Amino acid sequence: METEICIIGAGPAGLTAAIFAAQGGVHVTIIEGNTTPGRKLMVTGAGRCNLTHNARAAKVVRTFGPVQGRFLSYCLYKFSPQDVLNFFDSLGLKTRTEQDGCVFPASDRAGDVRDALINRAKKLGVHFLYDKRATKITKEVDTFIIHIPKEPLYAKKVIIATGGLSWPRTGCTGDGYSFARSLGHKVTQTRASLVPLVSLEDWPGQLAGTPVENVRISARINNKKIATAGALIFTDDGIGGPGVLDMSRHLTDYLPAEKAPIEITLDFAPNVEQSAFGKEMTELLNNNSKKKIVNILAEFLPKRIGIFLCKRAGCNYELSAGQLTKDARKKLIAAIKALPLSIVRTREIAEATVTRGGVSLKEIEPKTMESKICPGLFFAGEVLDVDGPCGGYNLQICFSTGALATSVAVQKHTS
Ligand SMILES: Cc1cc2nc3c(=O)[nH]c(=O)nc-3n(C[C@H](O)[C@H](O)[C@H](O)COP(=O)(O)OP(=O)(O)OC[C@H]3O[C@@H](n4cnc5c(N)ncnc54)[C@H](O)[C@@H]3O)c2cc1C
Repeated sequence: METEICIIGAGPAGLTAAIFAAQGGVHVTIIEGNTTPGRKLMVTGAGRCNLTHNARAAKVVRTFGPVQGRFLSYCLYKFSPQDVLNFFDSLGLKTRTEQDGCVFPASDRAGDVRDALINRAKKLGVHFLYDKRATKITKEVDTFIIHIPKEPLYAKKVIIATGGLSWPRTGCTGDGYSFARSLGHKVTQTRASLVPLVSLEDWPGQLAGTPVENVRISARINNKKIATAGALIFTDDGIGGPGVLDMSRHLTDYLPAEKAPIEITLDFAPNVEQSAFGKEMTELLNNNSKKKIVNILAEFLPKRIGIFLCKRAGCNYELSAGQLTKDARKKLIAAIKALPLSIVRTREIAEATVTRGGVSLKEIEPKTMESKICPGLFFAGEVLDVDGPCGGYNLQICFSTGALATSVAVQKHTS
């Protein structure tokens, strides 16, 4: 079998690449190890698919930090969040931007995002090979040989879009890293990112399953203060939820098992400064002196958390506010504003939303996504050493790198 461009992996990066290549009039074959495409895409955003973040390219670049941001800058300006919105509009998918900038399909169905991509790719004549897991890629002169069950596929160009290591049951087992290495590329250390955190203390287990709408999470790493905010949920062994996942991205490099735990603090009243909160709480308790403390706290915190915080502060939650000593009030306020927790590790990479680390950016041309080592080889999506926070940034990168990789491959084909 022969093709002009072979794309390995029918996830969001691979499907976008296929569409752009086929639009350029190139014969494209996409190989997918699963029997269906975009299996991971189907679970994104809890089945709703947060497909991008409605922000200017400059902001998205900054979000990825100095190293990744520098690499992604060209690509994000070339195919920005607005371009992603226009792209999906052209595929007939209606989208909706929520207040925080996260973009979802108007139907709230991840399947509609996948189907929009598949339908366009099929219309453009992209050749799909399902249930074909590539096992090896070799290059002879200027032809790539992609080893798949039965007979190999010969291609002039290859785009590796095999994703990372998270959620292996969706088909992502890190094959792209082996392919990259075998073709001369370095792969940086892979770690779990956007993943629940495991604590040294076991008290989170007492609160397992209890969600809190908005918590500010702070840590100090290398003398730098880092803070994230968002929903949090206590788990059997620590904490999860969007605010925690974003914090995990900052902590994951510093959490190898042999190192000391990292202290974080949880602020359950993140919208009010410490001193103002102290005043507000004192007023609230004074104005409701006959009300039980636990019921006062229940006005802004789940009851289980309120009871836990009272116990931490050493006060009886059944007492009325008027019975609280000054010292106990101080301790309670401190527990609400800065509850310490020691983080020992992240959960396993299989549970992570994305993989941190991957094919080294130093060996990839940022304007084309082409290998600097092996001409004709391109990379797109999570297989690259890029990872963003929650909020649609990771899919944006898949679409941007997918579109860019093929647009250049097409130019080379037609010139
Ligand atoms: C639970 C969850 C929720 C998420 N929610 C969001 C969200 O809302 N917004 C967001 O921006 N990001 C989200 N992400 C991250 C996002 O899903 C990934 O960043 C994105 O799917 C990566 O796309 P990709 O195309 O690079 O790889 P993938 O989507 O992982 O696709 C790679 C494809 O390659 C195939 N493949 C792998 N190896 C081979 C091989 N050897 N031969 C053939 N085929 C192969 C796999 O079967 C797979 O289909 C979420 C991730 C998870 C796990």
